[in-house]
Amino acid sequence: MQSFYEASVSRSTDYAPLAGRRAAHVCVIGGGLAGLSTALGLAERGAGSGDGIVVLEAQQVGFGASGRNGGFVFGGYSLDCADLLKTLGAQTARELYALTTDAVDLMRRRIQRYAIDCDVTDAGVILANWFDEPARLESQRRLMRDSFGVDWEPLSAAQLASQLRTDRYHGGLFERNAFHFHPLKYVLGVAAAAAGAGVTIHEQSPVLRLQRDGAGYLVHTPHGAIEARHVVMAGGGYARNVHARVERAVLPIATYVMATEPLGARLREAIDTRAAIYDTRFAFDYYRPLADTRILWGGRISVREREPAAIARLLRRDLLRVYPQLHGVRVDYAWGGLMSYARHKMPQIGRDTDGVWHAVGFGGHGMAPTTVSGELLAAAISGERPVPDAFAAFGLTPVYGAFGLAAAQLTYTAMQTRDAVAGRRRAPRPVS
Ligand SMILES: Cc1cc2nc3c(=O)[nH]c(=O)nc-3n(C[C@H](O)[C@H](O)[C@H](O)COP(=O)(O)OP(=O)(O)OC[C@H]3O[C@@H](n4cnc5c(N)ncnc54)[C@H](O)[C@@H]3O)c2cc1C
Repeated sequence: MQSFYEASVSRSTDYAPLAGRRAAHVCVIGGGLAGLSTALGLAERGAGSGDGIVVLEAQQVGFGASGRNGGFVFGGYSLDCADLLKTLGAQTARELYALTTDAVDLMRRRIQRYAIDCDVTDAGVILANWFDEPARLESQRRLMRDSFGVDWEPLSAAQLASQLRTDRYHGGLFERNAFHFHPLKYVLGVAAAAAGAGVTIHEQSPVLRLQRDGAGYLVHTPHGAIEARHVVMAGGGYARNVHARVERAVLPIATYVMATEPLGARLREAIDTRAAIYDTRFAFDYYRPLADTRILWGGRISVREREPAAIARLLRRDLLRVYPQLHGVRVDYAWGGLMSYARHKMPQIGRDTDGVWHAVGFGGHGMAPTTVSGELLAAAISGERPVPDAFAAFGLTPVYGAFGLAAAQLTYTAMQTRDAVAGRRRAPRPVS
């Protein structure tokens, strides 16, 4: 079963595999949104003139998480805002958060500027409370207002029930400055914009190894090599055996998505809003209505990749738990993707002692943060300004391979059990 996104794009541009040896000022490894945003950011700054900027992608542009995700575009990082505040203190936490809301705006501007047709629904995001504990939402709302200067509007249980026809939720918060879109169309648009600005992209060009070469590196693929002054590691949860320091600092964690058949009028019996929705659990459901009346539904986190049929079965069960009125609905597409998680849950953006740049560890909240990393690395590599010191607090901390994965799975199971217990504390209310 193909992803809905792949089934609904035409990949009209072929980016030929690298053949032979050539020089580049910057070689970016990975054609996801982290790599392509860096390349576009460099090109927009006029950097890389002369030898230029090259992106090497093992498969096709957008093959990884960037072309498979839920399509939510909003502020913040995988590390939640309360922990960001605890770690960095008020001012720096606010500055780092503001980078992500600036990135949401930059994405909007790029969509306009480069005429990227990516099915934008600019209708905000709802955080729905799974638990019958109003204090959870209220403390989140205050934190966002008082410490981060953003206003998430409260939705009473009745207001929410008029949009989401389920008895699962206990009110919500509405984040207005957020949108959802077709992420693969966006990534292809960013690639086309970068190529139009002079960046060379090679697909089917997996990087096999980096070799020191004077002040730079030789970047080897099966049929060629790039002599690069700067190298950027942006392989997300998919990079293997290229650069140990970076790969040992991220856990590849799977999450899953499905798209139902078009539901026609039945959609509104369940979801009567254009906003995207997620809930307050650790392993939350995230979903959104599509223009053709399908529901795109995502959820679960696991160290295991699963087959599409198993994903469809699990997610369909999750959907019916929230919207039992959709019984009998057909699942047309189901797929998974790998996120890259750091132990500290923040993106790792910077330059290692060996001179290699990196942008990894975006976790499940990567659309705006990968755009942040592209801007920060492009500015740093072009000599405009260094990566903010605050990111040094979130370095390439080792995750300890298989042991780290086992520990992550234990944590996920514990958090899901905790949420299941809390969710049962009060019985669901009937929808009024
Ligand atoms: C199912 C799912 C749902 C998600 N939902 C959301 C959401 O709704 N909103 C949100 O903000 N975030 C979401 N995320 C997270 C977000 O998608 C990621 O954080 C983000 O896309 C990471 O981008 P990236 O460029 O770092 O990695 P990727 O997009 O994974 O790109 C890495 C690329 O590097 C390539 N690569 C790897 N190794 C090599 C090599 N040796 N040589 C050449 N190329 C290589 C890969 O083929 C891949 O294309 C979701 C993620 C998943 C998986």
